[in-house]
Amino acid sequence: MNLDFYKIQALQKQKEHKKFLEGLKKKPPKNLDYIVQETHDEVFEKIDCLQCANCCKTTGPLFTSKDVERIAKHLKMKVADFEDKFLQTDEDQDLVLQTLPCWFLNDDNTCSIYEVRPKACREFPHTDRKKIYQINNLTIKNTLICPAAYEFVERMQKNLEKK
Ligand code: SF4
Ligand code: SF4
Repeated sequence: MNLDFYKIQALQKQKEHKKFLEGLKKKPPKNLDYIVQETHDEVFEKIDCLQCANCCKTTGPLFTSKDVERIAKHLKMKVADFEDKFLQTDEDQDLVLQTLPCWFLNDDNTCSIYEVRPKACREFPHTDRKKIYQINNLTIKNTLICPAAYEFVERMQKNLEKK
């Protein structure tokens, strides 16, 4: 997957994307959540995360205390040891990875803790959530690192034109 190409496209279209998403916030179409879900499904039919893993390589998730407990248990580690080995507290007081790419990312882009991965990993890039306009800033930010987020905004524009 050509990640540089996607990033350049996302930067070039950022203004247009922002305007479009702001429009959704000002005047949400009645069936917005439905179109969002449909668009999300279309995008992930086309995009294969195993060819990418850019989120795991460049950003990494926030870890909730439930995530930490679940993953530590899975690895048969004590919570404190897990935190010492892998996590740090960032400037917003969130628990994040100490290093990137994520330590749990395998060479073939699979996740070695897939079944118990953090909630944030399961939900990224948040393109199937309700009231998508509530996370407009995050979606725009994600278009710069995530080809699926970029494609999602592109296709949303087209899908809404069709309706
Ligand atoms: S969610 Fe986005 S950035 Fe992460 S692997 Fe899939 S396409 Fe790539
Ligand atoms: S835990 Fe798994 S899905 Fe989450 S960032 Fe690490 S490798 Fe990617």
